[in-house]
Amino acid sequence: MIYLDNAATTRVKPEVRAAMEPFLDRDYGNASSLHAAGRRARRALEDARETVAGCLGADPKEIVFTSGATESNALAIAGAAEALRSRGDHLVTSAIEHPSVLETFARLERQGWRVTRVPVDGLGLVDPEKVRAAITPRTALVSVMTVNNEVGSLQPIAEIRRAAAGVVFHTDAAQAIGRVPVPLRDADLVTFSAHKIHGPKGVGGLWVRKGTPLAAQSVGGGQEFERRAGTENVAGVAGLAVAMKLACAESGGRMDSLRERLRAGLERLGGVRVWGPPDRRAPHLLNVSIEGVDSEAAILALDAAGVCVSSGSACASMSMKPSHVLQAMGVPADLSKSSVRFSLSGLTTEEDIDGALAAVPGVVERLRKISPVTR
Ligand code: PMP
Repeated sequence: MIYLDNAATTRVKPEVRAAMEPFLDRDYGNASSLHAAGRRARRALEDARETVAGCLGADPKEIVFTSGATESNALAIAGAAEALRSRGDHLVTSAIEHPSVLETFARLERQGWRVTRVPVDGLGLVDPEKVRAAITPRTALVSVMTVNNEVGSLQPIAEIRRAAAGVVFHTDAAQAIGRVPVPLRDADLVTFSAHKIHGPKGVGGLWVRKGTPLAAQSVGGGQEFERRAGTENVAGVAGLAVAMKLACAESGGRMDSLRERLRAGLERLGGVRVWGPPDRRAPHLLNVSIEGVDSEAAILALDAAGVCVSSGSACASMSMKPSHVLQAMGVPADLSKSSVRFSLSGLTTEEDIDGALAAVPGVVERLRKISPVTR
C-alpha cells in the first residue's frame, strides 16, 4: 500500500507506541488518585506536558490536553468567546477553516454573536488588510488557521496577528506542526493534534498564552488547570509527547522535494491544475484537479491500485459536497469535482512517490475515456 493521505491521519511511529504501552496495562492509574499508581500516571502526564511545552517553546502550565484538534478548536473559540462576552459581540474568521472551526462559529452565531468570514484570494491566502478592515471595537476573537488542510496554503500569521492587535488571536495549527514553524509568538491560542504527526488518534492540545481569557467547555473536574474536565488520557498524552518531540526535530525539507517530484510527475499528464500558493505552501500537501476525471472515481481507482489519497478533507469528502475551500478560492465547480489531495509525511519515500506516479496515468486515461466531462 502506498499511503499518501497523511493530512487525514498518519501512522503511529514505533517510538510513540512504545511510550504509550506502559500506561495501558501496567501504570493504568487515574492521574487524580493519591496512591502510587495514580502518582505514576500524574508524573507521566506532567513529564509529557513539559516535553510538549519544550517543543513548542511554551510554559507547561500553558498546555491543555484535549481529545484532538476538533475539541481544541471548540475550546479556544467558544471558550474565549464565552469569557469575553461582556467585552464584545463580534468574531472574525476565514472562509477556508476546518469544519470544526466553521461549525463552532456557526453555533456562536446562532447564540447571538456576529461573525465575519474573511474571504481568501485565488491561492487560498487571507489578506491581513481584510482582517484589519473586519475588526471593530466589539471584536472579541480572530481565528485563522496556520496551514489549510485541503490546499496547504500557509497563512501570513504574523501579519494577520499585527492587523488584529489587541484582539485575542487563535490559530488552528493541526496541519502545521512538524511541517512548518508553529507561530506561538504570533498567537494567544494554538490548536494541535497528535494523529497528524505520527501520534495516536483522539488526543491533542491547546496552547493558551498566560492570561488569555478562556471558559472551560467541559466541566465537572479540576483537570487541566480547570480548563478541561475529564480523566486524562495518560497513554495518549505520553504518545503525543514523543510524537511532538520527533516532529519538532523534522524540517519538512525532504517532504518538500518529494512533493515537488510528485507535482512534476503529475503535471506531465497534461490537463492538471495545482491549487494553493506555489511559494507559501506547506511541504506535505499537493491538491490538484485532473481535468476530465471525477475525484471520487479517481480515489476509488487509485485505491484499487494500492494508492491511498483523498479529495479535500476526510471530513468533507464523506459529504460529497464540493470543497468549501476550493469554492472560496473561486475554483469552478467542474474543476473542484476533479480535485485530488496527495499528502506526504516524514515516512513517505521516493519509492512511494514513484509508485503513485506509475499508477496515476493508467487510472487517468481510463477515467477520461469514460468521463461524461469532455476536456
Ligand atoms: N483542524 C485541521 C486543520 C485539520 O486538518 C483537522 C483534521 N482533519 C482537524 C482540525 C481535526 O483534528 P482532530 O481529528 O484531531 O479532531
